[in-house]
Amino acid sequence: MFKVTNATGGYGKTTIIRDVSLEVKAGEIVALLGRNGVGKSTLMRYATGLIRATSGYVEIDGEMAPPSPAKRARLGLGYVPQGRFVFPRMSVTENIAVAAASNGFDAKKTVEEMLEDFPLLRPKAADLAGGLSGGQQQVLALARALAIRPKILLLDEPTEGVQPSIIDEMAGVLKRINADREIAMLVAEQNLDFCLSISERAYVMEKGAIHMETDRDSLRADKELQQELLGV
Ligand code: ATP
Ligand code: MG
Repeated sequence: MFKVTNATGGYGKTTIIRDVSLEVKAGEIVALLGRNGVGKSTLMRYATGLIRATSGYVEIDGEMAPPSPAKRARLGLGYVPQGRFVFPRMSVTENIAVAAASNGFDAKKTVEEMLEDFPLLRPKAADLAGGLSGGQQQVLALARALAIRPKILLLDEPTEGVQPSIIDEMAGVLKRINADREIAMLVAEQNLDFCLSISERAYVMEKGAIHMETDRDSLRADKELQQELLGV
């Protein structure tokens, strides 16, 4: 479904990720864990085509991914960058409409679908995105990513700076989207409880490489690894 093979890349002459291979199968939610600065976001940027590959390649739904991020989006790769990127000076409706139109989907219809999926956005539909709370912006960023009707969704630290009550709601929303629309997900996170609640399997990164692959039960039992990840 989604596969990264021997990914090596970084910024300018600096290599950040080295020889990273991972896979997300149809229907899966997979976590990408690791402490600050290990290269989780860089790997996501590599996967979306936002940074140039030094070597390695990406496959989306069985097809070799083209270089351009826009073309990868058209193949079904959705992406919610770290820091809940939305257009602050556009309304909630416009934010969703622009994303839908960029992939050739009917803007009006998509906006209506997203407001149905995320009822908390409906009363805010005409408001400027910049005026929403952090959690609401994160939900809007998710709605924008879903507006392109992805088959695989990359989420970069969706719970960062979001209050606990909205984190629980978000976990529920992601599980529902995964089940109802069969969208596979790769979720970079530092929030272990959140990961354990949504994903069955995880990759752990260290210094730009995959350090290990684990599953929910092993991660739950491995207190040493948990401490390492939490940095305590
Ligand atoms: P966090 O958990 O803090 O989000 P991360 O695992 O996502 O961390 P990255 O953001 O991928 O880590 O950063 C990995 C390394 O790449 C760091 O050393 C960082 O300083 C460097 N880096 C990140 N973005 C850039 C950039 N735009 N230009 C140059 N170096 C960068
Ligand atoms: Mg990051």
